[in-house]
Parts: sequence; structure tokens; C-alpha cells
Amino acid sequence: MKDIVANNVDLRKLMEGNKRYVASHLIHPDQSSERRFELKHGQHPFAIILGCSDSRVPPEVLFDQGLGDLYVVRVAGNVLDQMIVASIEFAVLHLDVSLVMVMGHSQCGAVQATCNHDQLEGHLPNLTFALNPAFNQAKDLPGDLAENVALANVGLVVEELKQTGAHFPEMVKEGKLTIVPAYYDMDTGKVDLLGT
Ligand SMILES: [Zn+2]
Repeated sequence: MKDIVANNVDLRKLMEGNKRYVASHLIHPDQSSERRFELKHGQHPFAIILGCSDSRVPPEVLFDQGLGDLYVVRVAGNVLDQMIVASIEFAVLHLDVSLVMVMGHSQCGAVQATCNHDQLEGHLPNLTFALNPAFNQAKDLPGDLAENVALANVGLVVEELKQTGAHFPEMVKEGKLTIVPAYYDMDTGKVDLLGT
């Protein structure tokens, strides 16, 4: 995994930002009014983050980035549906972003509700339904169930994205697109890349 970070300038930029966040050495890049004006005519983000809507996991903060740096798609439980795949396709195919990070996190409410088989109202069962494959994959593993399900989910989402995004399979094969699973630990503030 060290190699992938060393060889991918965008991934390195993300992980270095997270190191600054963990160390409380934030530089808050690209947040000036000059940067805002500069971006008026177009955006060229260097990474796509699919993360959870949880208010405690904002990618721009965790990776110490600013305006125009990250293309962020957030949905409870960082799951996939057609709109989410379409949002990611837009950034890959039309903004030429070549790095996608799927980031799960500790203390995820959507994951916990899935693990607890909570009876939910309204549209909420859609979320636990989407997390069920991860639950089934992880339910018999030793250790913390919610953490195991969150980890399994990012792995499954990465695989599904690689297969379902338009042109993604060949782009991944040709090295034009990198999709990585990651996990944010709320205790340490650290984002870990998971083995691929
Ligand atoms: Zn969450």
C-alpha cells in the first residue's frame, strides 16, 4: 500500500493532508478569495471522495484541503445507488479526476442501524438494505461487528464501482483510474488505506 501512495501524487496529497490534520498542523490551503475567483471558470479537483453524510467526517477538513480540491459525494453509510455512481462518473469522465477514495468511518450510524436490525421509518430502510451485503460478509468475523461491516462495505463499494462506472473497468485496467478503500478512525483522526 506504501507503493500506491508513493506512486500516486493525488493520493499522496490526500494522505499528507490527513497527516497535517492528525498532527493539528493545518495549513488550510486554497481557501482564499483569490482561489475562489480563480475557480470561477472551472474546477479541476484532484480526488473524488465518496464518504458518509455524518457531520463528523467532512473530507475537506480531514484532508486539510480547500476550494476546488476535492469532489465530494456524501451519503449516509457511503453506499452506492445510480445517482451516486452518476455523480462519480461525472467527475471521472468530465473533470478528468483519476483518483476515487471510498471512505467508511468508525461510529457510523447507518452501519450500526444495519447491525442492530433497527426498524426504521420512511426511506431509511434503503440505507440498511444497501449495507446488508456488507453485514452478511462481516457478521461472523471476530472483533467489532460495526467496524467489520464498515470495512466490508468500503471493499464492496470499491469493487462495485470498478465494475459499474461507465468505462471504469478499462480505465482501472489501464491505470487511468485508481479506486481505493479507506477508513477514518474518529479516535485518532487518521484515515487508513485498506489493502487492495
Ligand atoms: Zn456514517
